Amino acid sequence: MEERDFLAEYQPLVFSQLKKSVKHGRLAHAYLFEGDQGTGKAAMSRWLAKRLFCTDLQDDEPCNRCNNCRRIEQGEHPDVQIIQPEGQTIKVDQIRQLQAEFSKSGFESRQQVFIIQDADKMNASAANSLLKFLEEPPGSFLALLETDALGRILPTIQSRCQIIHFLPLAPEHLIEKLVKDGIGKESAQLLASLTNGYQKAVEIYQNEWFNGAKDTVMQWFTYLEKRDPQAFIYVQKRILPLAKEKEQQRLLLQMLLFYYRIKRDRSTESATESTRILELLLQAEQKLTANVSFQNVAEQLALRIIYQK
Ligand SMILES: [Zn+2]
Repeated sequence: MEERDFLAEYQPLVFSQLKKSVKHGRLAHAYLFEGDQGTGKAAMSRWLAKRLFCTDLQDDEPCNRCNNCRRIEQGEHPDVQIIQPEGQTIKVDQIRQLQAEFSKSGFESRQQVFIIQDADKMNASAANSLLKFLEEPPGSFLALLETDALGRILPTIQSRCQIIHFLPLAPEHLIEKLVKDGIGKESAQLLASLTNGYQKAVEIYQNEWFNGAKDTVMQWFTYLEKRDPQAFIYVQKRILPLAKEKEQQRLLLQMLLFYYRIKRDRSTESATESTRILELLLQAEQKLTANVSFQNVAEQLALRIIYQK
C-alpha cells in the first residue's frame, strides 16, 4: 500500500494537517511523531521526505516513481538520513555522524531531512547531542523523530519539537494488521477485543498464558452454552488457576464476553437471551472492578447463566 493510501485511511487527521503545512510552506523544523507501533509514523516520515524531494509532484502528492522518490523508498537518498537503534540503543556516535553529514553540506542551502526511528532509544549522551543540534540547526533541515514511548523522550527535546499524536488503530485495522503478521483471524479478533494497541495485542499473543487461556475459556463457554453444571465446577478446576493476577482476571472475562458477542452476531435465535447474558457479563466486570473476589464473580456468573431463565 502506498503511504498516501495508508495514511489517508489510518491517520486522516494527521495526514491532512501535515499535507497542509507542507503545501503552505509552514512545516516546523522538528516533529515528534508519537503513537503505538504500526500506526503510520514511518509512513508519514517517508511521505514527507518524498513530498519535499519529489521532482514530479502529482496533484501535490509525491509520484513514487522519480529517482528521488525511489531512492527515499530504498533508504538511499543522500539528503534523507535515517537513524535506527544499533542493538538496544541509539548511540552518541550515530548522532555525531549525522551532524558531520549536515555540516559538510550546511553551507549549501539545500533541504535535508533526518529521521530518527525509536527516538526513545537514544542514550543520554545521544539525546544531549541531538538537543544541541536542534538548538543550533545548521542550514535548512527537517527533523522527524518517531517514538511509541513519549514518556522516555527528554522533556527538553519534546519542547523543541512539534508533537504529533498518532491515533491507535481502529479495531478493523488492528485485526488486518495482526492477520498480516500471521495471527489467525479469530485470535486477531479476540485480541482486538482485548486492546486497541498493536504492541499490546502482540504482547498478549506471545504470552504463553494467552493461548492456554483462550482454549480454557472456550471450553467454559461451551459448558455455559449447554447450561451444563460442569460450568460451575470448571471455575474452580480450570479457570481460577489461570486468574492469579487482576489483569488476567479481567482478560478472562473479556474473552468470555468475546465468545458471547460472536455467538450473538452469528445466531438467529432470540436476541433476548444473548442480551441477558451479555448484561450478566458486564455486571461481572463491574463487580471485579469493585474488588469482589474473582472466584465469587466467576462462580456467580456461572450459576446465573446455568440456572436462570
Ligand atoms: Zn517523485
